[in-house]
Amino acid sequence: MIKPPRTGADHARLQGSRPPVKGQSRGSAAASGPATSEKRIALRVAPEAERAIRGGHPWLFEGSIREQSREGEAGDLAVVFDRKGRFLAVGLYDPDSTLRVRVLQHGKSASIDEQWFEGRLAEAAQRRSPLLALAPGWETNGYRLVHGENDGLPGLVIDRYDRTLVLKIYTPAWLPHLGELLPALAKVQPAERVVLRLGRALALRGKAEYGLEDGSVLQGAPLDGPVLFRENGLTFEADVVHGQKTGFFFDQRDNRARVQKLARGKAVLNLFAYTGGFSVYAGRGGARSVLSLDSSQPALEAAKRNWDRNRADYSARASHEILATDAFEQLERIEKGGRRFELVIVDPPAFAQEQSQVVQALKSYDRLTQMSLAVVKPGGTLVIASCSSRVDAETFFDTVHRAAIRAGRSLREIERTGHALDHPIGFREGAYLKCLFAQVGEIATPAKRARHGGKPGAGPRKDSKVPERDPNDTKLPTRARHDGKSAPRGSRPKKTIPAGSQRG
Ligand code: SAH
Repeated sequence: MIKPPRTGADHARLQGSRPPVKGQSRGSAAASGPATSEKRIALRVAPEAERAIRGGHPWLFEGSIREQSREGEAGDLAVVFDRKGRFLAVGLYDPDSTLRVRVLQHGKSASIDEQWFEGRLAEAAQRRSPLLALAPGWETNGYRLVHGENDGLPGLVIDRYDRTLVLKIYTPAWLPHLGELLPALAKVQPAERVVLRLGRALALRGKAEYGLEDGSVLQGAPLDGPVLFRENGLTFEADVVHGQKTGFFFDQRDNRARVQKLARGKAVLNLFAYTGGFSVYAGRGGARSVLSLDSSQPALEAAKRNWDRNRADYSARASHEILATDAFEQLERIEKGGRRFELVIVDPPAFAQEQSQVVQALKSYDRLTQMSLAVVKPGGTLVIASCSSRVDAETFFDTVHRAAIRAGRSLREIERTGHALDHPIGFREGAYLKCLFAQVGEIATPAKRARHGGKPGAGPRKDSKVPERDPNDTKLPTRARHDGKSAPRGSRPKKTIPAGSQRG
């Protein structure tokens, strides 16, 4: 056990008041959550973790803790001191996660209270301000307001859907702090309602352990259906209570706008379409026809409604089909049936949740690339994305190029892109989204394919199974590296992947 920290002032300044959770109406779920913790834990950590934290890294893992003043509960504030007893950081403690502390504040001590939250939220809102000043026809009131670690609020995502805010938490450590976070949020971003979503692990325990239900309305009027919002001037609906993540994938906003520019006159296939984000932009860009394919029928019903509500923006003859099926199986059928597309968009769920799944994930990307290319007309365009935080950008782009060689198709890169402005990257693991835009060449003859290392006649392999829908919500992801360099030990999660490093 360690002695109380030498710098008593540090501790004193950290004594923010912790009133019980307040500010929720109608006996909301969070009001019955645990009372706010007043407690603090003093920690000393391994040298490499100390270095990582000093460098601004937001994660401290169980294995890096050398000394701890006492056992703690979820939501206690953990104060990390260096070997000389100087303040390093303060963060949220979670005894049930190997990611034991999520750092809120580095370097300089502070009271973690309503005012502190207000400051962080105001900074996050400021970062998004360009989205509020877009040109006429591009109005936007749907975006990610808080992107976890990358906005200094680890394990917390807040998405704005016009007048509805969706707050998603990935650790029970946030629960005792909602009483201060919510009033701060109301000041910075007044809204009609706040909906609570729980990361999957928390959703399983939420009801029994915390009296919390995924999708409960914390503040404001109950919801009787999807909410409407605008992204770049287009109107979408999102089911913020039952939908995947918080209801919509804002991280692809800029890539969707790029697709719009490429779509004129084209036959478009949107694979893993969810609620049709890319499809609607392709429509506005003048696509001739769009096929939205996803394994989720409810998501596709929403895609149909989203397509219809923006109809005024398309050419009169533009058509939209939806198809609820497995993308891999359907690609095989399309290939055999002979239908071809001029623009194919491929935005699958994260294939790698853990380091052990990376090899399999790369096989899946390889297979998916080959199968997608097989249905692109020569001269057409492929847009392929990865949101697997464990697969880094270089490895992903290399995999796509190798797959193209094997498929006997040349790829001419148009652009490599990443996150939209509302998904800032605040630390290395925060960069999870990568997307390649490429022009697809002629189909090579078997001899030419062989010369380029592809196996003539080798069709897509069946061994790489796509995971169940929405797998990146099961664990907290981290990005794995394939260049042999590893993250500092103290900063590397073992099994779980925090919100700030994934599609939250
Ligand atoms: N492109 C979407 C987001 C895609 S998220 C957008 O811009 O909004 C990944 C989607 O893949 C989810 O909608 C999920 O339902 C779907 N999915 C997962 N596995 C699938 C499979 N095997 N075949 C088809 N769709 C799948």
